Amino acid sequence: MDQDHIKKYSELPTVLKIKRIVQENPTVRTFYFDYELGSKPGQFVMLWLPGVDEIPISIAYDNGKEFALTICKVGSMTEKIFELIEGDQLGIRGPYGTYFNFKAGDKIALVAGGYGAAPLYNLAHEAVAAGCEVDFIIGARSKDNLVYIERLEVLDNVHLHIATNDGSAGFKGYTTVILADLLKEKKIDHIMSCGPEMMMKAVGKIGDDAGVNTQLSVERYMKCGFGVCGQCTLDPLGIRTCVSGPVMNNKILNMLEEFGSYHRDDVGKKQYF
Ligand SMILES: Cc1cc2nc3c(=O)[nH]c(=O)nc-3n(C[C@H](O)[C@H](O)[C@H](O)COP(=O)(O)OP(=O)(O)OC[C@H]3O[C@@H](n4cnc5c(N)ncnc54)[C@H](O)[C@@H]3O)c2cc1C
Repeated sequence: MDQDHIKKYSELPTVLKIKRIVQENPTVRTFYFDYELGSKPGQFVMLWLPGVDEIPISIAYDNGKEFALTICKVGSMTEKIFELIEGDQLGIRGPYGTYFNFKAGDKIALVAGGYGAAPLYNLAHEAVAAGCEVDFIIGARSKDNLVYIERLEVLDNVHLHIATNDGSAGFKGYTTVILADLLKEKKIDHIMSCGPEMMMKAVGKIGDDAGVNTQLSVERYMKCGFGVCGQCTLDPLGIRTCVSGPVMNNKILNMLEEFGSYHRDDVGKKQYF
């Protein structure tokens, strides 16, 4: 990594006021900010709450003037973020990382699980604007855990497929069943996925079997977000998720024995899925 890269990305956080908060479901909220972030779908920011923590969050929307982050309340930092109200401030660094790649007019299948629906909504929004046709497969445990459905329903050229484990909405079962059926029905240029790692591992296998380019968004514990600290390296290649990812081609992921097997926690200890 050259000095210019480090200088460009190691700037102090930009402090922004929360413009609007949308409650998506009991544990997920979207925070909007007025700011020219200039991100591409799949990238992330490091979100800073002074005195608490700094965490990576994917960009859920960016129209050039305003951007949004969709956050799931899971632990100490995200609980504190949920105490904030409109007008309160947060710091951001970024955008960082790789992004999803497609060409105008491509046929794309997106597979989202949990809050992974938010960055894939951002991608769908950009892809249809570029004349792509999108099949958006979204999965959750039950109807109440689904997010972004209303936003997706109004996007032209997006065919929405819903899967829930308990059958309370859409197909009863996994997103991967819908993906496998879709690939039998129509030609798809790219599969792109964001969600629980075991779901993405299965998506990658389906993509490989069908010979379709597959791009997956990998989550690892991150500290700096721009390649300096080495916290998010992946075994055995030693590539850093924050600069070689989060979006990676499945050809690379197939060489990473830890993908779909384990991740490392804040002190580097292996945690098996
Ligand atoms: C590239 C990337 C994009 C992400 N995008 C989103 C998103 O759009 N929305 C969202 O809700 N979450 C997202 N996450 C996950 C989010 O960063 C963690 O859920 C968050 O850090 C939890 O913090 P906590 O203190 O509330 O929870 P904790 O109780 O500290 O941890 C809960 C879980 O989050 C993981 N985690 C904690 N800190 C980090 C960190 N610094 N880096 C990575 N994982 C961490 C822990 O390993 C644990 O599995 C993303 C993670 C990555 C790596």
